[in-house]
Amino acid sequence: MNRKEKKFWRVLQAIFYLIGLVSILLLLNDSFRFLSVLPQTFGRDWFWNVLIFIAPLVFALLPGFWRNICPLGTMSLLPLHYHFSKRHKQSLKQQSNFYLYSIILLYLIVPLRHVETSGLAVAITLIIIALSALLMGYIYQGKSGWCSGLCPVLPVEKLYGIKPLVTLNNAHCAQCINCISPCLDANQILNKTAHISPHSLSMTHLLFVGSFPGFVWGWFQVNDFAQRMDGWQHLGAVYSMPLTGALITLVCFMILKRELSTHELKKLILFFTASAISCYYYYRVPSVLGMTDSAGVFGIDFSDYAHYTRAIQLSITLFFFWWFFARDKIVTWGNKPVFPEKEHLT
Ligand code: SF4
Repeated sequence: MNRKEKKFWRVLQAIFYLIGLVSILLLLNDSFRFLSVLPQTFGRDWFWNVLIFIAPLVFALLPGFWRNICPLGTMSLLPLHYHFSKRHKQSLKQQSNFYLYSIILLYLIVPLRHVETSGLAVAITLIIIALSALLMGYIYQGKSGWCSGLCPVLPVEKLYGIKPLVTLNNAHCAQCINCISPCLDANQILNKTAHISPHSLSMTHLLFVGSFPGFVWGWFQVNDFAQRMDGWQHLGAVYSMPLTGALITLVCFMILKRELSTHELKKLILFFTASAISCYYYYRVPSVLGMTDSAGVFGIDFSDYAHYTRAIQLSITLFFFWWFFARDKIVTWGNKPVFPEKEHLT
């Protein structure tokens, strides 16, 4: 990466870092009202209905871009870029354990959206996650602690980012120190050939692929207890539906997997990937556009067009099945950085 490009990414990283900080302030404003000109739920609307809404699409289309600018990633790599990381190297066993922990974290955190959604609670959660990212970057070398380690978003990036639109230069790793193996940023998750890389599709990841569509579906079947302010009394209900859904699709996946050839397994993975992301937008798009009973993002109200809901949902599903099945393109998230002669990244 030349100096100009590096500068470009550093500026983008700073901008998205700032967006992260502003988002936390907006969430705090929902609770403390220091910017009373903004509507009461502006921060939550911005966070849930804009940022979280578009995130899966970005993971699917431009995972390399996301890996370059994610504010939490930038936070975790500050120790690397400013040379105060302890740079502990993980064993392969640790890497695989961290991936399992990241899936567990994801499944623990996501249902809590139905329990507590006050601006203060979400802001505190984000601050804790950001400090954890920094700590992991301080302890472990490169991306192994957070971005390719404990980050609870990583399993979703790995699932949806299977057929990216483009390959970009890796803005954090100008040189590679082999912090993780195989590197997610520089290797295809599914190879172009029928062969599937055994590690990149470890049993842990296959368990995630199989369970995630059911988890997403189950999540949307839960009442929004957070709106009623009695979420903590319904923890059982909040976790049981997503986990039951996860178990059902996982069992189906495992039964089918036993019967399939390697090439067919690849198709099955694509089917489960397309199902999970379609399911998410199937429910979210009408809700964000205000086509359901509740108000849309920033008060948008397309309830007069509610009769188009099914057509929109069908188009979304077709789009994602086309994206994952019809396109032949399987590329890496990022170009492989060079191996350095000296042992550190820039
Ligand atoms: S490119 Fe090298 S240093 Fe960067 S994340 Fe991949 S393995 Fe780690």
